[in-house]
Amino acid sequence: MTPERYEKIQRVLTRRQPDLSVLMDEVNKPHNFSAILRTCDAVGVLRAYAVPPQRSREGAGALPTFNATSGSAEKWVQVETRPDALSAARELQARGVQVLATHLSQRSVDYREPDYTRPTCLLLGAEKWGVSDAAAEIADVNIVIPMFGMVQSLNVSVAAATILFEAQRQRLAAGMYDRPQLSAAEMQALTFEWGYP
Ligand code: SAM
Repeated sequence: MTPERYEKIQRVLTRRQPDLSVLMDEVNKPHNFSAILRTCDAVGVLRAYAVPPQRSREGAGALPTFNATSGSAEKWVQVETRPDALSAARELQARGVQVLATHLSQRSVDYREPDYTRPTCLLLGAEKWGVSDAAAEIADVNIVIPMFGMVQSLNVSVAAATILFEAQRQRLAAGMYDRPQLSAAEMQALTFEWGYP
């Protein structure tokens, strides 16, 4: 590994936010999956969770295939699969993570309201079906990006980017990108993994 490469990896790892994640609930289109991972990388998300689409014609039960572009994002954002959004949300909550479901309901709030400096997971829904009602119900908060046009919803990757950059804004203001959030051991392990693929 060159010194320049080592420096770059250190810079990126110093800004990784291990307590900020996304949970993609049956996002089935590869270009959306890929775009969400690229945004995760840009914002500093270390880990993304994904429930493989079950109802997809593109390939039920498997994660959306990666194209060349997404392949590069996948290298830097760990993707862990989960069987369903409900149990995944419960698992995260049990670890003290607030789950924010992107879902329009009676209790939805503007996406800028929550405190994203807390351990947070953003639950994103499938292109066709959105977030399941059960997962939205147990989520700590339901959030929406206000829509003032004729169309009811945004593309899922656009919604993810909008919300993740709000999380980045709040975390920047709180100084969370100024000091490593990863332990020294995690930094070392990832430096090795990324530096010697
Ligand atoms: N028919 C689906 C529904 O009723 O939920 C539309 C799903 S939308 C195309 C796909 C996903 O993008 C949603 O599940 C959510 O994660 C995200 N999304 C789209 N528009 C949003 C908005 N205005 N606020 C928050 N999330 C949004």
